[in-house]
Amino acid sequence: MVLVAQLVEHLPVEQRVVGSIPIKHPKIVSSFVQHPKLILFDIDHTLVAGRAADVYYRRFPWLVRDAFARHLGIEYERAKEYVERHLAFLEGRAPADLDARRDFGLERWYDAIVRVDPSEFLKPMPSIVAMLETLRNEGYALGIVTDSPTPQAERVLDAIGVHKNIFRVFVGWERGKKIPKDGTGEVFERVCGAFGCAPSEALMTGDSLLTDILPAHRLGLAVVHISPVKPDHIFPFIPSVESLPAYLRGI
Ligand SMILES: [Mg+2]
Repeated sequence: MVLVAQLVEHLPVEQRVVGSIPIKHPKIVSSFVQHPKLILFDIDHTLVAGRAADVYYRRFPWLVRDAFARHLGIEYERAKEYVERHLAFLEGRAPADLDARRDFGLERWYDAIVRVDPSEFLKPMPSIVAMLETLRNEGYALGIVTDSPTPQAERVLDAIGVHKNIFRVFVGWERGKKIPKDGTGEVFERVCGAFGCAPSEALMTGDSLLTDILPAHRLGLAVVHISPVKPDHIFPFIPSVESLPAYLRGI
């Protein structure tokens, strides 16, 4: 993340790109003043964050490994190796692992993830429920855009006490389809089109610069980065998603 910020900072404005993602209007984004009609949330490390969430996410590779091993009837050590390769790819730490994909494929990865039960780790998060209700009562439409399998996303939200009915938009990963946040931002264009608002009337908030913030910004959405520490970039940020109502009142 720091590397990305440094790359951006030291390039002339017109050449600022991260991977294939050009950063448009870098001077304008931090002075965003228009109130959005639609607010889109990432789930992992955004709506679901904090100490209990950290325990869950730290345990997640082991939970998936166990689910993988049971689901496919393979040794734990072999499952561990493949899970590590998948995670490295999904988190952008390594290129696509063709062997892992050939052997197991994304559908089986999907099937393993949806067997992980988050309710053992995640408990109701009243501050998140209250934040969402505040925004809805203030007239914002709310939405989810996540790379989690849709049934798993619903289970995670259920575990923290958030009912999916509060969201007017709900986009997760569907089995057999591509992962929504593929870095191109196409999902944000699709979501705004289906909801009937211009990209400039929507706001995306999430913890990932590469999958939440940059692609949404490239499509013309307003963005708010969730970052517990002050990030070294030009985009608006807040330390936790609970600060979003106050942030929106302040713009
Ligand atoms: Mg996230």
